[in-house]
Amino acid sequence: MKEIKGTPRSAALFLFLAGLLCVISGKSFVSMHRPEPIFPGPGLSELKSLSDYLPALKNSPGDTEVYIFLGKEKGGNLLVLGGTHPNEPAGLVTAVLLIETIRAERGNVFIIPRANASGFTHSDPQEGNPQRFSVATPAGPRLFRLGSRLTNPVDQWPDPAIYINPAGQKLSGNEARNLNRCYPGHADGHLTERIAFGIMELIRKERLDIAIDLHESAPEYPVINAIVFHENSAELAALAVLELQDEGLEIRLEASPAGLRGLSHREWGDHTGIKALLLETPNASHGRLKGRPSSSLIVDGRDKFYARAARLGWLFVAYGDEGIPLSHRVARHLAALGALLRSLAELEPDKAIEVERMPPPAEVQQKGLGAFLHPPN
Ligand SMILES: [Zn+2]
Repeated sequence: MKEIKGTPRSAALFLFLAGLLCVISGKSFVSMHRPEPIFPGPGLSELKSLSDYLPALKNSPGDTEVYIFLGKEKGGNLLVLGGTHPNEPAGLVTAVLLIETIRAERGNVFIIPRANASGFTHSDPQEGNPQRFSVATPAGPRLFRLGSRLTNPVDQWPDPAIYINPAGQKLSGNEARNLNRCYPGHADGHLTERIAFGIMELIRKERLDIAIDLHESAPEYPVINAIVFHENSAELAALAVLELQDEGLEIRLEASPAGLRGLSHREWGDHTGIKALLLETPNASHGRLKGRPSSSLIVDGRDKFYARAARLGWLFVAYGDEGIPLSHRVARHLAALGALLRSLAELEPDKAIEVERMPPPAEVQQKGLGAFLHPPN
């Protein structure tokens, strides 16, 4: 075999190519810090930041927007959270869709679309996930970032070997960067605890009555297509599930285990007494059984391996060859939100929250997200 010998010229060439690769990947990494644009509809009353509720978050990577819709009539106060886990796209997209469409008639609505803003600035290593996914609208594609479940290690490092969260639960070290394990947070804790504390402050200062955290999980995970409720929201959740099942939407009712501490709805309910719920939809791109990760797997939700797993009885949801598209998952979140608000009005009429112009879930499923989202700039 002929030996290939390096020369100063080939060394310079490889050095240049390595440098070029660093510049390209560095630019691509840094671009994750640019938030996707959100185009609030005419219903928006005020745009605040989480740092307005916890000034320690100002100019930190944990600060994030709070979109406020004030109703014409007095009623209850609702918080909707997307992006607690930035790798669960239906949460972000549902929150964005609400911001771009709704108007509050009775009561007030607070929406945080990117609860863990830092988690949107990187993706999970070694997963091969796309950095963004694209939702088609008649005027062109809208791009959204697919982040990580955890806060960016650039913003919070190092992880402890064992993390004892502010609620006293012992967890593995990297859970210190999981916003859904850091409640009730701490005013001068690490970044993720400060974000959690900022949200607790918002709940207290705005005198919220009900808060809903939007999530997604893998189709092989048992808590799926579910409303997870804090015990003080049991009646509310049960009434909403009855309505949804009556409409033909299969949805599970899951009681939140009282001993699992640090989760959003657990600590919101325990510390502030509000009605606290978590919603889960099935996302194939999130699971371990999927094929190649891609933007279309996130948006179309079609994966032949999951269809096969469903035929083998391995999943906790029905999953056919047509998959479970993002539009269906967002429609599920909207349907659950609508049913919860109607149930709240029935149980506590003085706390009723009425929202107009929320895209009807059946139409979102049928026409797709692009029919309701603002066109891209
Ligand atoms: Zn989640």
